[in-house]
Amino acid sequence: MSFACPASWPVTGGGRAPELTGARRLAACAPREDTRPCTAVTDAPRRLGTLAVHAGEPRPQPGDAVVAPIACTATYSFRDTAELRDHFEGRVTRDEYGRYGNPTVSVAERKLAALEGAEDCALFASGMAAITTALFALLRPGQHVILGADGYRRTRQFVVDFLGRYGVEHTTVEPGDHAAIAAAIVPGKTRVLLTESPTNPYLRVADLAALAQLRRPHRGLKLLIDSTFATPINQRPLSQGADLVLHSGTKYLGGHNDLLAGAVCGDAALVGAIRELRGLLGGVLDPHAAYLLDRGLKTLELRVLRQNATGQRVAEFLAGHPAVAAVFYPGLPDHPDHAVARAHMRGFGGVVSFLIRGDEATTSRFIDRCTIPRIGPSLGGVESLIEQPALMSFYELSSEQRRAVGIRDELVRLSLGVEDPDDLLADLERALAGIAP
Ligand code: PLP
Repeated sequence: MSFACPASWPVTGGGRAPELTGARRLAACAPREDTRPCTAVTDAPRRLGTLAVHAGEPRPQPGDAVVAPIACTATYSFRDTAELRDHFEGRVTRDEYGRYGNPTVSVAERKLAALEGAEDCALFASGMAAITTALFALLRPGQHVILGADGYRRTRQFVVDFLGRYGVEHTTVEPGDHAAIAAAIVPGKTRVLLTESPTNPYLRVADLAALAQLRRPHRGLKLLIDSTFATPINQRPLSQGADLVLHSGTKYLGGHNDLLAGAVCGDAALVGAIRELRGLLGGVLDPHAAYLLDRGLKTLELRVLRQNATGQRVAEFLAGHPAVAAVFYPGLPDHPDHAVARAHMRGFGGVVSFLIRGDEATTSRFIDRCTIPRIGPSLGGVESLIEQPALMSFYELSSEQRRAVGIRDELVRLSLGVEDPDDLLADLERALAGIAP
């Protein structure tokens, strides 16, 4: 007899936790003869810190382990043909083949769904696999996408350069320009409004409620928010009217610079359609990476609250330093979206972008003088990372081409880890002193 313990804790506020699918899936990997009742199930609402630790995990776990195991298998066996028929005819929900699902991946999916207040979540091999699969699932030739102008370069490249090959048109709009967004909507043709919030690298924050309002009269137009920089600790876009939340799980969700992952969260029908396409395109998350992601998620709130606090301190310090020409951080009063961010976000995150007073070489000199942040792409991990976007993601462009896409040679993107904030500030102060004019 199989074991039927609800797998996930209830979600706080909005959204039904996807415990049914998940519970039935996980039942497949539990000992079949185990008939003990699950005593720890409760309807009490749980806050984010509790969900981060426990949501999505069956009780008891297989083998009575405290930690969800890694189901290291590419395929799943059936006891007999009757069980196979039950599976294909929908009488049981269980795993069949690794490209369609894995119990360890399901644990992390349910946990992230609970954190986002989503009915369902599908995980992917990377953030780009999540974004591209979601867009392919939603769009058809002849349709149209509106894309926020500030954002991760590869997302822009996919929409601007690649989707056109399949007959999908696009319009890019400046962050916060709601009149331009309204003007760009082609009724019946615009199917996706996609923006990051906060954006990469200028940390622009979208007024999600206003975007949801703009979208409301247009049936079939979906609002997609890449919430990588915010995480569900700082903002929950579904509760503000977004249809789908996207993540590069490589960043804060994993949190340790040791995995690649992507996620799509939203209502069951939409995520289900995207999961179907994932099974066809194949960008699935490996169970080992899913285990690391689940482990990283357990400390998400601790890490992000620390990174929020450090981000604010560092931004204020940089804003007052003579060697710094400008700071882009939504927690600063002069940021264009400060009021929106204050109203809708719990914290402003651990990424601070700024302009060094000087040129490309001065900026490189500053970066080379930093001893705690490592030079590298990516963000959101426990190790601080620093980069000069002109010499990282935009290396092959000329200075003029970079300026045309808004990337100045003196721009620095600093992702603060969880090191001691006093040590980080001292390191930045020493590095800046060495380049002072
Ligand atoms: N979205 C944002 C905001 C990003 O910054 C990135 C990567 O830097 C991605 C998506 C892509 O994620 P991944 O590198 O996991 O494919």
